[in-house]
Amino acid sequence: MQSTETKTTCSYCGVGCGIIATTDAKNYVSVRGDENHPVNKGMLCSKGMNLHYVANDTSDRILYPEMRWSKSQPLQLVDWDTAMDRAAAVFSSIIKKYGPDSVGFYVSGQCLTEEYYIANKLVKGFLKTNNIDTNSRLCMSSAVVGYKKAFGEDAVPISYDDIELADTFLITGANPAWCHPILFRRLENHREKNKKVKVIVIDPRKTDTAATADLHLQITPGTDVLLYHALAKRIIEKGYNDSHFIKNHTQNYEAYKAIIMATSIENAAKICGIPMIQIEQAVDLIGKAEGFMTLWAMGLNQSAIGVDKNTALINLSLLTGHVGKPGSGPFSLTGQPNAMGGREVGGMANLLAVHKDLANPEHRQEVADFWGVDSISPNPGLTATEMFEALDSGKMKAIWIICTNPLVSLPNARKAEAALAKAKFVVVQDISHKAETTKYADLLLPAAGWLEKEGTMTNSERRISYLAKGINPPGEALADVDILLRFAKKMKFSGFDYNSTEEIYKEFCHMTRDTNMDISFLNYDRLKNEGTFQWPVSDYRHPGTPRLFEDKKFFTPSQKANFTVPAAIENTSGQPNDEFPFILTTGRIRDQWHTMTKTGKVSRLMTHKPTPFLEINPIDAYKKGIKEGDLVEIASKNGLVRVKANITTTIKEGVVFLPMHWGRQLNTDLSRANNLTNTIVDPVSKEPDFKFTLVAVTKY
Ligand code: SF4
Repeated sequence: MQSTETKTTCSYCGVGCGIIATTDAKNYVSVRGDENHPVNKGMLCSKGMNLHYVANDTSDRILYPEMRWSKSQPLQLVDWDTAMDRAAAVFSSIIKKYGPDSVGFYVSGQCLTEEYYIANKLVKGFLKTNNIDTNSRLCMSSAVVGYKKAFGEDAVPISYDDIELADTFLITGANPAWCHPILFRRLENHREKNKKVKVIVIDPRKTDTAATADLHLQITPGTDVLLYHALAKRIIEKGYNDSHFIKNHTQNYEAYKAIIMATSIENAAKICGIPMIQIEQAVDLIGKAEGFMTLWAMGLNQSAIGVDKNTALINLSLLTGHVGKPGSGPFSLTGQPNAMGGREVGGMANLLAVHKDLANPEHRQEVADFWGVDSISPNPGLTATEMFEALDSGKMKAIWIICTNPLVSLPNARKAEAALAKAKFVVVQDISHKAETTKYADLLLPAAGWLEKEGTMTNSERRISYLAKGINPPGEALADVDILLRFAKKMKFSGFDYNSTEEIYKEFCHMTRDTNMDISFLNYDRLKNEGTFQWPVSDYRHPGTPRLFEDKKFFTPSQKANFTVPAAIENTSGQPNDEFPFILTTGRIRDQWHTMTKTGKVSRLMTHKPTPFLEINPIDAYKKGIKEGDLVEIASKNGLVRVKANITTTIKEGVVFLPMHWGRQLNTDLSRANNLTNTIVDPVSKEPDFKFTLVAVTKY
């Protein structure tokens, strides 16, 4: 047999790089960047270029369904029929006894769009509960609300191609040099060729991104809204605001301006920990920009005031008229490869498919009619953290977890562990035994991984790509969508008689007809033959839409963009005190992905940062008698972590940093950052406050 090539997309971050996977006669997979892909043009970062190790190494894979009849018994191998009979029987009996809201599904931004769509149809349309949420709740939900408030819909207005057209970048709460490397590489290339391009970075850490910036504002965590207000005030005072754009294409400016003009810039500088001169420099760079792009990620989203941070930042683009034109606009960077696709199919507890709102009765009926069911429940669905609280309180009895590892990734992970232990029935559908959550499964279902199934994904810039199947999954693993369809059949639900994944996609595309994200003219053939498309795609010859709002008509009822007055300016997470004097922030490292179930088994990716560590400023370390490499104990009101100290001037005094990846890989949970993190969430987006936990640090 000759080798075969499969065009696909990287399964890690939201950049969405194209990959050519080659499978040789012995079924060994190798990868290279797709030279013709518009996103990466052949480039791959360390994670993407080592993806073949993950595909070739099946030693950790879940190969067969496993089940236990009671919590006291071990899991035993069973066949698929027995597994799905049990799932259907248990879910039916729990729903009958306790009602539909006693069960929930927790899915993932790594699910393909078809899987996401079916899971939502199954749960919201047929199980009659809205308890389906996604781990994207932990990364993007604040940005979703921010976009809806500003533009009337969850719509990222620009493209990566705008990078090469911009001259001023404001990167805030993001470290793309490590977390979105190919995107950052494009920015670096652009800078190398265009000396007038300037980069401002706002971050409490001097990350690799900040180290290359023209201006680094080393902000005190949690003070972002105040800083954006101070920048806005100086922009107005210096006449850099775009009065024509504001007058003709926005609303609510006067209310916003009143708040802004009441801001004391001197006071803001002091609270934010940033010299006045840097605020002036940033204002001049932004004010003189011809193409001004803001780029942000979890540093803004994962906050008790994440929505306010998002809207306050987007306001800067509106204030300067940098929306709907080349090289300009607010651009949230998604962490996961299909976080955007999940949002499109309504993969969150408060959303419905095609950007419809669960809270809107008309929208509920439209979706119900499309799916051929009487109604969608009006009860608000439980979000990620709420589902685990409901398991803990006994309100929810059963959970089905797909393609995510909440016992490492949720805040206050030990509480999540205790909640899962209390559940009557836990289904875990995953690829790897390494996922800590699998240990709590009553039913463990083997899922197909990257390259082992077909479907579509949407990256950060609304770009939809088709992922072909290149290899068979090992053992009896099945594509997630096939597992869900088997469950629907066992539940005797009509409306799930699809003959192929393509049929599911057709149904979803049809559902988008006449919406702002219309892709009803898209299909697998076009994606296979013509390549990737950015929605909307408004007819059979339409090439897709790289930039939204060029006509300055926004998706709000008035067609005007909205200045949002943030509900909170000051952070609501508390203030350092004698007991917990440090602010802990958590995040990613360059070569690891999420909870390391994939990247953790690639030895060359482990060489960059082989063990967990705590970044601490030299002054703080000196005061605590801590030396480089000392074992330190970090304590919050929720738990403990013990790791080695990494003393570095790159982190601000009073702030410490832990990577979020490690769970129980070292046979202890004491390197799990989420032992510490608090369970505060943004009141609107319900996104957890991972970037601000008060901790104490001592030498162990
Ligand atoms: Fe994959 Fe993201 Fe790296 Fe591209 S930048 S290769 S999508 S991890």
